[in-house]
Amino acid sequence: MKYAFDIGGTKIEFGVFDDHGTILHRHKVATPLEDRDSFINAILDLVLKADQTFAGDGIAALPPVGISFAGGLDPESGAVISANVPPIKGWPIGAGLSAVLHRPVRVENDADCFALAEARQGAGENHRTVFAIILGTGVGGGIVVDGHFIGGRSGIRGEWGHGNDISGTLMRYGIKARQCGCGGASCLDPWGAARGLERLHTALHDRDLSSQDITRAWRAGNSDALKTIDVFVDLVAGQLRLMVNVLDPDIIPVGGGLAAEQGLIARLDAAVRASVLGRYDHALVVPGHFFADGGLRGAALLHDL
Ligand SMILES: [Zn+2]
Repeated sequence: MKYAFDIGGTKIEFGVFDDHGTILHRHKVATPLEDRDSFINAILDLVLKADQTFAGDGIAALPPVGISFAGGLDPESGAVISANVPPIKGWPIGAGLSAVLHRPVRVENDADCFALAEARQGAGENHRTVFAIILGTGVGGGIVVDGHFIGGRSGIRGEWGHGNDISGTLMRYGIKARQCGCGGASCLDPWGAARGLERLHTALHDRDLSSQDITRAWRAGNSDALKTIDVFVDLVAGQLRLMVNVLDPDIIPVGGGLAAEQGLIARLDAAVRASVLGRYDHALVVPGHFFADGGLRGAALLHDL
């Protein structure tokens, strides 16, 4: 039995998993953003209630906890170095919660958790090198090789949406690069996921639409949306191409909101495979099996590493 949390900027999702990875119970609460005590109490409340139903007798029978969150951890202190949840910033969340919950707690970035879930139980099962990408609010990624994470010296990895220079491609379409939250001048992140798709559409057509409306219009054959998707695929596939040439992954499962757009993922796959150095005779870029809840599912697997 494992408990798992996926901690986001607006909600905390909690799940109870059996040892086969089947989810037995799930519950969502709003993320307390005001102070750390409220945050801890929200976690404690969910765990104690679950213990009444799922825990065995004695402290050794308390299910361990895995946590997925959007951000990074200092590998030495375990302190949260970036997060969209103010109460946990600077806090060694794993050790802090372990002391309160009286059981082991492991914590990882949500894209890494998604990658782990896909590698162990999803689209990457039976594949050696899994490069999972998130096309959600922003661009994220996680790399799992032979069922385990690689790297980890700084606590930040798989961030293929930062450090790019896409200004040349943007310029070809008459779009100016914009400053990224990381400080970079021409990263993919502001343009390469759902918010980016919306920014592209506004920059190209001077019209604000949601990403869902853009993809709906694209499927209906709308010429403005067709252009936006062409530019989006050019930008994203261009950066994925480099990652594929470096990593030679077996599979690239996609998570986040845009993963539900199967036609768009197929377009990305075709554009990537047509332009990389290696030959891949199967789809590389595919919708993740757990694109909607891979963070939670991966958090439940952290104690199996
Ligand atoms: Zn950046």
